[in-house]
Amino acid sequence: MHSILERLHQVVENHLSTIAFASCKEKYTYEELWRAISSVASALTKSPLNKGPVLVYGKSDFYTLASLLGANMAGYAYVPVDSHSPFARVKMIIEACTPSAIIVTLQKELDSDLKALLSQYQVLYRESFNAEKPITNLKNMVRGEDTNYIIYTSGTTGVPKGVEISHNNLLSFTEWMMHDFRQIEQNQVLLQAPFSFDLSIFSIYPALLAGGTLVSLSREETTNFKYLFARLNNTEINTWISTPSFVDICLLDPSFVQKRHRKLEQFIFCGEELTIKTAQKLLECFPEATVWNTYGPTEATGSVTQLKVTKDLLAKYDRLPLGKAKPGVEIQIHDPKRRQKLSVGERGEIVIIGNSVAKGYYQDDVKTQAVFATVDKRSVYYTGDAGKIDGTGQLFYDGRIDFQIKMNGFRIELQDIEAHLMAIAEVNKAVVLPQIDANNKVRALVAVVVPNEKVTDEKQFIKYLRKRLILEIMDYMMPQRFVLMDEFPLNRNGKTDRKLLSEKLLKV
Ligand code: AMP
Repeated sequence: MHSILERLHQVVENHLSTIAFASCKEKYTYEELWRAISSVASALTKSPLNKGPVLVYGKSDFYTLASLLGANMAGYAYVPVDSHSPFARVKMIIEACTPSAIIVTLQKELDSDLKALLSQYQVLYRESFNAEKPITNLKNMVRGEDTNYIIYTSGTTGVPKGVEISHNNLLSFTEWMMHDFRQIEQNQVLLQAPFSFDLSIFSIYPALLAGGTLVSLSREETTNFKYLFARLNNTEINTWISTPSFVDICLLDPSFVQKRHRKLEQFIFCGEELTIKTAQKLLECFPEATVWNTYGPTEATGSVTQLKVTKDLLAKYDRLPLGKAKPGVEIQIHDPKRRQKLSVGERGEIVIIGNSVAKGYYQDDVKTQAVFATVDKRSVYYTGDAGKIDGTGQLFYDGRIDFQIKMNGFRIELQDIEAHLMAIAEVNKAVVLPQIDANNKVRALVAVVVPNEKVTDEKQFIKYLRKRLILEIMDYMMPQRFVLMDEFPLNRNGKTDRKLLSEKLLKV
């Protein structure tokens, strides 16, 4: 079995002038991609590095992609960090993963705090990767059980958790994507998700290992409808990969229909619930396309189930199933308290077992042991998702057993935001509640705060809370509404009664 980079090398040799990566501004061939990967790898190999991963700080652009793969070629796991993250979060990730080097692919001047932090590490800038004829050296490449990447996700204490994915995890996922979904010649594949979100692996690896083209969207395009719709109408995407929330936005554009996008043959969704409403609209607008619902957490390498969504299925269920497990994976439903397997049809925690399960959380044994295990030599991950398996083996999702939510496809631990609110001296207590609509989608977050002292100007105080929070959390985690209270209601166990608060405050 060849490694991902060995396979990519073969693809490169057969597709030298094929476009591997296209953004709105630039296009790069496979030959250029391989040259960039090799020059990153040789720059890393020249420097004296320790065993830690290589953190890559940048946007969703060509050089950032080449840096991730270049780190792997030199034998290092990569840690992708989006340059739109607040400084406090970047700092936490750097300190948590203790990188042996940091690659910065941004061309603009960095702010002074970041510069000062980076000065303590070995930093390689994009300019140093311009070798004319870099040598391909696969001797040290990442392979087998080596760690391929570490992706940091929201953590309950406010400190992100680094999910450590092995090369074998990623290879198994990639092979499944390449065999069990629709295979399209010269596949143009949408790359919507930033590299720091594991949805990006759905695009990167299956597209590149089949000689396809990654059609990348910039942050400007994903956050501005005008640019987004214009760009989409200028592309000829065959395979669409995104969260359902993202396609909901695109469906607002009347030109997002089969007649206008004739080559769009396949939609693959993951990251959050695909509602009947979205699937129905999509099949109406793209009657000839194949639509897949897939499910999985970062901790199980992208996705572990697959369901082809048809009109018949939409008529049969009021909430879409997630499908059945990929090869090498078994899914069970457990009683979350006793961690024992439940019977067909019973609701419990979704447990993923097999070759997609991550190594654990990087350098965090306590958090790893809480949700990962090895049973009969197989890796097990307790997802925290609630669900059931019916008599036909279909898996169904039914919310969470904890306080993690998905909003617009982003994974958010409500306790992460709460921890940052509580760290503000003027805040005595804080809870963050999700506002959920009739389709089970989180529409907004509401922060409920008990201040330390009586607040005279509520508007000003809330403005202050927002200003403090944005220094610590990602912008998509910012609550849409803030409510100030003198005290929280308590439940019978003496804990904050979140249910009562939700009933009181979130009535639509
Ligand atoms: P992430 O680690 O960001 O990929 O988020 C993983 C979580 O997203 C899962 O644990 C689920 O809660 C949710 N999720 C992913 N895919 C689906 C899906 N198809 N339907 C419902 N929820 C999903």
